[in-house]
Amino acid sequence: MDVVIIFDFDKTIIECDSDEWVVENFGLTQLFSALLPTVPNNSLMVSFLSSSDLSSITMYMILLKQDRMMEELHLQGKTAQDITDCLRKIPLSLNIISAIHSAYASGCDLRIVSDANMFFVEAVLRHHGILHCFSEINTNSAVVNEDGRLQILPYHEYRSSSHGCNLCPPNLCKGLVIEGIRASSTEKRFIYVGDGKNDYCPTLKLTPKDCVMPRKNFELWNSISTNPKLIKANVQEWKNGEELEIALTNLIRTNCENYKDSQKNRFFEDFLVSDCKSQTSPIAPPGSIEKAVQVPH
Ligand SMILES: [Mg+2]
Ligand SMILES: [Zn+2]
Repeated sequence: MDVVIIFDFDKTIIECDSDEWVVENFGLTQLFSALLPTVPNNSLMVSFLSSSDLSSITMYMILLKQDRMMEELHLQGKTAQDITDCLRKIPLSLNIISAIHSAYASGCDLRIVSDANMFFVEAVLRHHGILHCFSEINTNSAVVNEDGRLQILPYHEYRSSSHGCNLCPPNLCKGLVIEGIRASSTEKRFIYVGDGKNDYCPTLKLTPKDCVMPRKNFELWNSISTNPKLIKANVQEWKNGEELEIALTNLIRTNCENYKDSQKNRFFEDFLVSDCKSQTSPIAPPGSIEKAVQVPH
């Protein structure tokens, strides 16, 4: 069975929120805390207000803020290269880089589903030499226009039709993305790694053979903890890059041992010998993760 590992980006692969990082590093924090309350006056926002709830409005405002932020940087004479240079300084745990390399080497299909944008995600992953590990990045579009200004555009074309999910903001339903990936073949086992409110919808789409890895004490973890019975997938929490690497490596080993039995995958046997055999886990011993549900009720 194919193992598909889906990563959120902000506060999951990277330690911080990428748009907050850019705002802070260009000294725009004060301007943007003043700007944000005026965003709903935008005409797109008014048409959206009638059809969604408060938390998705907040997430959608973040997308509008991203685009407004790009406009402001352009007005201040900042180039796309200046923004790339700023993104390259975002802290990223060495354990997470190592976990991504190992998962890729094991033959897993790695993807990103993020409410950031393509420019930010690609710039960071390329800088850390892990962009090639991902088969697909699903996020809001980013284009540099003829004036050299970076424009952020929604993932879904929500103005012509709604994606129909009231858990998610109109620009991106991560659950729909998961359903699309699963539709390409039912023989897939998902591992979903995330932290935020917008990772809850895809978490609800997971089945008992899948695993969700919520970041402990973040919003996704809180939502799962509030009503764990709604979650069909196994739950494996993590606090930081080190815990994520250990837990993810164990999960891949558990799942890919099954894969090895059925497929006799020589490449993965090599991976087991070189990367996994000597490791031990304080979180869950190999073989037990399938049953582990560590989020408290
Ligand atoms: Mg996130
Ligand atoms: Zn959704």
